[in-house]
Amino acid sequence: MLSRFIDAILPARCLVCRQPAQDRLALCATCHNKLPYNDTACGSCAQPLSSTGMVCGHCQQYPPHYDQAIAALRYKDEARQLILELKFQEKLRNARLLAKLFHDRLPGHQLPEVMVPVPLHPRRLRERGYNQSLELARELHKLTGIPVDSLCSQRSRYTERQADLPLKDKKGNVRNAFEITGKLFGKHVAIVDDVMTSGHTVDELARVLKKSGIDKVDIWVMARAGYMP
Ligand SMILES: [Zn+2]
Ligand SMILES: [Zn+2]
Repeated sequence: MLSRFIDAILPARCLVCRQPAQDRLALCATCHNKLPYNDTACGSCAQPLSSTGMVCGHCQQYPPHYDQAIAALRYKDEARQLILELKFQEKLRNARLLAKLFHDRLPGHQLPEVMVPVPLHPRRLRERGYNQSLELARELHKLTGIPVDSLCSQRSRYTERQADLPLKDKKGNVRNAFEITGKLFGKHVAIVDDVMTSGHTVDELARVLKKSGIDKVDIWVMARAGYMP
């Protein structure tokens, strides 16, 4: 409450460099220009590539369960900073900025009927106090009007943090990690998450959603890490 009041009366500061920002987006022009946008990426998994309009070799060999992933940024430099602060330092204002940057990438894409944030296991939710994916989905809802369904799926078991595992163990770690526990709405869903690295987590949730009758699943992530399988 108090921080909201302070936000309203003080001039906006850039969330990246703390210099004055020209609008409530809270990003200065310099940082807005130099963020690592994911302009050229795989048309399937959004993995950064050197040119656009291509599907990476990994997706050609092992097509994912989801239909298309969209990522606004590459997971490095200032983008990585914004996401780590959102995830581990409770900087929830970063969610609004990241959602706005993502929203700028949406024109030209068919919009889903509902957004499903990647659920956290209740134990991790207790540790962190909030689910950053749900915070992002709420901000995207304000921009698009697309409803958020955070109750249809749950983590069915506690999994190790994907970032802490060697590559060979990532896929097995999330296998059967999700279950559908509520009624699903619509036929076209976007899974919302902060960052996508190997993609195994969102692909597993997409697999479960499709098995439960969803026809089309897009992945909406704020940032995409480069990943060489
Ligand atoms: Zn700045
Ligand atoms: Zn790909």
